[in-house]
Amino acid sequence: MVAEQSRRGIGIRRLMATLETLYPDAECGLNFETPLQLLIATILSAQCTDKRVNQVTPALFARFPTVRDFAEAEIAEIERLIASTGFYHNKAKNIQTCCNQILQRHQGEVPSTLEELVQLAGVGRKTANVVLGDAFATPGITVDTHLGRLSRRMGLTVHEDPVKVEHDLMEKIPRKHWTTFSHRMILHGRQICHSRKPTCDQCALASSCPKVGVVAPKSAKKPNRAISKSRSSSPAESSPPHSLTQDSEAS
Ligand code: SF4
Repeated sequence: MVAEQSRRGIGIRRLMATLETLYPDAECGLNFETPLQLLIATILSAQCTDKRVNQVTPALFARFPTVRDFAEAEIAEIERLIASTGFYHNKAKNIQTCCNQILQRHQGEVPSTLEELVQLAGVGRKTANVVLGDAFATPGITVDTHLGRLSRRMGLTVHEDPVKVEHDLMEKIPRKHWTTFSHRMILHGRQICHSRKPTCDQCALASSCPKVGVVAPKSAKKPNRAISKSRSSSPAESSPPHSLTQDSEAS
């Protein structure tokens, strides 16, 4: 049965309906008011939590309100303001180079196509799709570590490469739902389908999810006979708790 489900993958309609019920208001976790702010916040979110990014961006955006402000800034000042997001030398360099490119190539306006966005420093398909989906209302699938992991477990893709995962999902998910689907899957990954210990026993998708790559943990150390005997009087208590572990992917 599980092998059959693995080949088939989770049912898309049921998956989308369940995610909508679970996360009706799912949206981008980054705070922003303009496409530029979302672009910068998304660059900062690499290897960093949305919460941390949201802590640094108010001061950063107040100090540098425009593309030109970022382009002409002392890079050390950008670094100082974003230091707590990690990798701040590279991030500051990318932000400044990216803003220079926006000035030179796009008259100071953040471009609104995937092809143009991915030509900017520090912007890959993931960042570009976040900006497209949430700043320009152009549907985009954002394959981060959560969406990739969940898609494999649900049998929606067999690929590790985010671009291949994105293309597999683009074929299966109706275009107008791409952005919302991404937000909801990412939330499900954060709350239920964790990297190391997915809580399948609490998951609303458990009956239809093939759980590809999710394996039951090895049995706990054998209890001594006296304890074992005393517990055997209650079948419910003698059953091991249902929990699962999974592949070694870090979150
Ligand atoms: S928690 Fe388990 S059942 Fe739920 S989506 Fe993840 S692997 Fe599937």
